[in-house]
Amino acid sequence: MADTQEIVSVLTESRVFPPPEQFSQRAHIRGMQDYQRLWDEAEKDPQKYWGERAREELFWKEPFQTVLDWKPPHARWFVEGKTNLTYNCLDRHLPRLKDKPAILFEGEPGDRRSITYGELSQQVNRLANGLKSLGVKKGDRVGIYLPMVPEAAVAMLACARLGAVHSVVFGGFSAEALQERMKDAGVKVLLTADGGWRKGAVVPLMKNVEAALTHATGIEKVVVLTRTGDGKLPAGPKFLAWDALVKGQSDTCEPEWVESEHPLFILYTSGSTGKPKGVLHSTAGYAMMASLTTRWVFDLREDDVYWCTADVGWVTGHSYVVYGPLMNGVTTVLYEGAPTQPGPDRFWAIIERYKVSILYTAPTAIRAFMRLGDGPVKQHDLSSLRLLGSVGEPINPEAWMWYRDVIGGGRCPVVDTWWQTETGAIMISPLPGATPTKPGSATFPLPGIHAEILDRDGKRVPRGQGGLLFVTKPWPSMLRTVYGDPERYVKTYFSELPGMYFTGDGARTDADGYVWLMGRVDDVVNVAGHRLGTAEVESALVAHAKVAEAAVVGRPDDLKGTALVAFVTLKHGNAPSDALKKELAAHVAKEIGAIARPDEIRFAEGLPKTRSGKIMRRLLRDVAAGNHSTQDTTTLEDLNVLAALRQNDE
Ligand code: ATP
Ligand code: MG
Repeated sequence: MADTQEIVSVLTESRVFPPPEQFSQRAHIRGMQDYQRLWDEAEKDPQKYWGERAREELFWKEPFQTVLDWKPPHARWFVEGKTNLTYNCLDRHLPRLKDKPAILFEGEPGDRRSITYGELSQQVNRLANGLKSLGVKKGDRVGIYLPMVPEAAVAMLACARLGAVHSVVFGGFSAEALQERMKDAGVKVLLTADGGWRKGAVVPLMKNVEAALTHATGIEKVVVLTRTGDGKLPAGPKFLAWDALVKGQSDTCEPEWVESEHPLFILYTSGSTGKPKGVLHSTAGYAMMASLTTRWVFDLREDDVYWCTADVGWVTGHSYVVYGPLMNGVTTVLYEGAPTQPGPDRFWAIIERYKVSILYTAPTAIRAFMRLGDGPVKQHDLSSLRLLGSVGEPINPEAWMWYRDVIGGGRCPVVDTWWQTETGAIMISPLPGATPTKPGSATFPLPGIHAEILDRDGKRVPRGQGGLLFVTKPWPSMLRTVYGDPERYVKTYFSELPGMYFTGDGARTDADGYVWLMGRVDDVVNVAGHRLGTAEVESALVAHAKVAEAAVVGRPDDLKGTALVAFVTLKHGNAPSDALKKELAAHVAKEIGAIARPDEIRFAEGLPKTRSGKIMRRLLRDVAAGNHSTQDTTTLEDLNVLAALRQNDE
């Protein structure tokens, strides 16, 4: 039985990078003995461990007595406690950090703003008072549909101040996607802007809102920020200018002290695998882990200039652009636009300008930069960087090496962080002062996180074999439910093995116990009786000097059951040819074995991705099979990419 369930691993990676001595010496967690000590503590008495963390990380208006109330699959953490997340992000720092920049903002057109903790606090309180004047109360849902401007953070924090539940919808989403999410979340007030800047053009947010409002949404008021100066405020009592709302509002607003389990936000998952789910997070457990993991994983110090390039529309933007860094009192950089606008060196210019010390970005961006070559990077002084992070997809070892060598100058540790919207915070990651890293491995679960690789019967899979990634014990920042659909919560996450959270991802450990993510279980391909994770075949392709990016899917095949089809984009300056196809197929066979040799290779200009930059293999499966797809494409970044792939398909 185990035979047919095992996911075969074909990748071997033997490079190891211990933490640089100097880095380790001043790190929060030094060496694996520190890691092990924390792990043992958590193991011995989880309630004590998590209770202590919660007391250390957060200000409590009222203390909790019960650390965890676990009635599988429902958890309540820090039960009797009361806190307020905005208070934790702002007020408690003010005596000391009032004049320190909280946010360094750069708009795509080049406009800049530096906002101190003191100023941010005033803006948040004014908006919170403004929202109150619109009747927003504890528990009400507020939609946020904004570009990556400081007001997006202000909006989230103002909601949290009032105990209102925010639901951020990525500014790149269409009217339809917005309407669907607003309706599902039961949003009462929507905070938006006239537009935002992206790739030199205006994203017409207000027009999308108007289109969304032609269908039922339940939205009572729309507050409009002027960003691009494009178009005027629509007529009617529903619409209100942001400036008018906050004008004259007091810059003090008493925080609403909410119960630990009070809902903080609803966020729809990025939709790599199907219809978006409204993931609901509650306050204290989420806040505690966002704060703790930001400090541990990025080894934060007070003088860091920290830049996470994610949009606030994704969970990464929630935990690691806004809440985690602000709870830690560091300076966080916010950039509005596209990575290559106006030139391919925009990211590197930003790092040089603000002396960014920590960069956290996604493999899709890293691969896109690799495709452009080292030139744009070399134009800038990146010596301020001391740590690099990656999140969102498995990072191919070659992309990891490029990131480390070219961006990090060979001196910065790389942390490949595995987590999900549902987990709220990083779960598996190196701790940069402790963990020797291997390119492409997320290494080990954080202390107290029971991420385990099991087979379908719940048995632990031996080292070296692939299996299903579960989190077998509750953790403080776990999702609490799927909003409005409690059955889907149980069915999606807790029906594979009762009481254990199923991540949907495949993974393996190597001989040293390192965790390697193998892609989504839905994407596993069964070739001649072997179950292959797509990530490894893709990594082998990306390791070829001419390949920029690759996606591998299965196509039904009479003979083999499933044939492997690889979609490949090439680095600049390389042309597709039949000879290159043969070369690539041979390269894969040589690197990882004949079983993984693609049966078909297709060159493409681009791959279909979610708007958060993840390859959508489920769409490619249809293209490979020549089927007309009826799948949900609302989260697809660029429909043209899919159309182009279909056209190539003669
Ligand atoms: P949906 O659940 O709607 O399909 P999604 O899973 O893409 O969307 P997210 O919660 O943003 O939405 O992404 C989490 C997933 O991203 C993980 O389950 C995993 O597949 C992938 N992932 C994130 N970080 C890493 C990483 N460091 N290594 C490998 N995979 C990662
Ligand atoms: Mg998911």
